[in-house]
Amino acid sequence: MTTYETIIGLEINVQLKTKSKMFCSCDNDSNNAKPNTNVCPICMGHPGVLPVPNRQAIEWTIMTGYALNCQIPETSKFDRKNYFYPDLPKGYQISQFDQPLCNGGYLDINISGENRRIDLERIHLEEDAGKLTHLANQDYSLVDYNRVSTPLMEIVTKPDFRDPAEARFFLQELKNLIRYIDVSDANMEKGHLRCDANISLRPIGEKKLSPKTELKNMNSFKAVEKALMYEIKRQTELWEQNDSPKKQTTRLWDENTGATREMRSKEESHDYRYFPEPDLTPLRLDPGWVAKLKQALPELPAEKKQRFIKQFGLSEKETKLIIVDRLISEYFENVMTETSSWVEELKQTEKVSDEGYLKIVKLVFNWITSELFALLKQEKISISKCKITPENFAELCAMIYTNKISSSGAQQVLKIMFDKGSDPSQVVDEQNLTQVSDEKELDSIIDKIIKENPKPVQDFKSGNQNALQFLVGQAMKESKGKANPKIVMNILKKKLS
Ligand SMILES: [Zn+2]
Repeated sequence: MTTYETIIGLEINVQLKTKSKMFCSCDNDSNNAKPNTNVCPICMGHPGVLPVPNRQAIEWTIMTGYALNCQIPETSKFDRKNYFYPDLPKGYQISQFDQPLCNGGYLDINISGENRRIDLERIHLEEDAGKLTHLANQDYSLVDYNRVSTPLMEIVTKPDFRDPAEARFFLQELKNLIRYIDVSDANMEKGHLRCDANISLRPIGEKKLSPKTELKNMNSFKAVEKALMYEIKRQTELWEQNDSPKKQTTRLWDENTGATREMRSKEESHDYRYFPEPDLTPLRLDPGWVAKLKQALPELPAEKKQRFIKQFGLSEKETKLIIVDRLISEYFENVMTETSSWVEELKQTEKVSDEGYLKIVKLVFNWITSELFALLKQEKISISKCKITPENFAELCAMIYTNKISSSGAQQVLKIMFDKGSDPSQVVDEQNLTQVSDEKELDSIIDKIIKENPKPVQDFKSGNQNALQFLVGQAMKESKGKANPKIVMNILKKKLS
């Protein structure tokens, strides 16, 4: 039996969040606009109007190019791509053909410990088309031109992927990177980021590429992976029946059936009759100007990861959890800055050694990635809407570290802070949650627990350590989360031995 190699390439369209559209002054955000109201003679392609390129969109494309290690040429130009489609009122799209803004480039990804470099072909800038809505059981479709001519950056990879999971992983990393540069929200569900995938198979050992199939209409990373997996299965069967794809086709992914279906034979680039856009002059990219754009790039995820590992002593795996989102990484860093100032105070009373500092970092890290993440997920809100200020979060962690509150007490405090944005010390006072470490006060609680739980007491005495944990838990409950669990355990051990 012949085995086959999978060849996958991606074309990713990223909607840039500039203020205005690509070639006119229409608002680029049509979220709250009625259909077909956010348009003008320029984006509707009326005769005699002239487009003016959006400088911000060009700058952001070049910055993305630098973040992806591309070469930026000294000249670039726009071209006219001719085709007729109901969502394209001009009858052509302004795109870039042979002189894109960015050439080459790559993104390094790490999949389960293995480094992979994915090479890029190019990044170019173009205008988007409108949006068609096809209604079920109707013989007409609706068109909304608000999206016409919004700036789209197209990132084209080389056919470097060998596996659908790699493609999905790449998309996640790319999305993260784009959000760091802050040129797009890159939300795939909302259509800010769209991805077409090209896939073909070939017998292992064969060097020539077979005609590719273009997959469209996937609107989540998971869907990209699923569509590719479906297509591998379908094409493998064709190869085995000696009926491999002989020409390029485009297929649509259907999320409901979990299958792809043929839409059309794929156009070749000569079908589009590209020619230089006569209404726009070529672009000369001044080296001094592009150098400034490179300098304006923020710290990117890969650099931030290395810095966090070094600065906070976190592991690579832990750091990944924090840097996966720029806003979360900033929140964490702000909490750490606030934390450092109380650590300095604690150092004066000699309560914190260097080892202690690492413990504090771990504590802050754990409270963010487990407790805070859980609340954000449960309430479905993003970190940018979180009511807890980094200063208050750091203060809560300080109270946990210095045993002012127990871990279960801190969970209650965190929930109130999360709902109301309150100050932790105020919540602790109001809720009377200050941890009880006084042995005399705890004594009576523990006596009660021993009296009420003869079976676990007996179990512990005959060597069952779990029984001790159970008794500590009961004491914590009895004290309404206020008892210091370490001291409870010590008293219990003393009383039962
Ligand atoms: Zn317009």
